[in-house]
Amino acid sequence: MLIMDMDPVGVELLLSQGQLACPGYARPLAGWGHARPRRIRDRFGAVLPLRPRRARCPACATTHVLLPEAVLPRRADAAEVVGAGLEIAAGGWGHRRIAAELGRPADTVRGWVRRLGTRAETVRSLFTTVMVALADDPVPPSPAGSGMADAVVAVVAAAEAARRRWGQQGLLTWRFACRVSCGALLAPAADPG
Ligand SMILES: [Zn+2]
Repeated sequence: MLIMDMDPVGVELLLSQGQLACPGYARPLAGWGHARPRRIRDRFGAVLPLRPRRARCPACATTHVLLPEAVLPRRADAAEVVGAGLEIAAGGWGHRRIAAELGRPADTVRGWVRRLGTRAETVRSLFTTVMVALADDPVPPSPAGSGMADAVVAVVAAAEAARRRWGQQGLLTWRFACRVSCGALLAPAADPG
């Protein structure tokens, strides 16, 4: 799986120009149909149909799903929705209250928070490295009270550093996080992404 821009035309252009490389072999990927259609819920509960492009590496014959950065693998909610829940959880709210706030099932929200909890140090460490690389004068965030909260604070700090460095005020924190982590933000511990 590769994490791409939101723009499907841009993705086709990269494919047709041979500018998407297989992570294993650095050979250009070729278009290879589409992945199964899925439905993604946005912040306002709207359901967006999505049919991600698939590409195949001619060297190793692996196929890769080209997933837009707004989407986390195996999650039905857009990355910004999941991220909003994680930010609120980092602020100390329980999963039921967050679920009511976001209009999502409590079990779903609990799943996001627990999964990040199991990967907290990996995520914190990755995004702290990114923040240090992007910020002019990096200041490590102070401890936020839990491993999960520290991870969220690191993601938010890295996205803010990226907005400043690239002058992109519109850069969305959790799309950025999805891209930087290659979609593995909430991956199972054994799954590198
Ligand atoms: Zn390959």
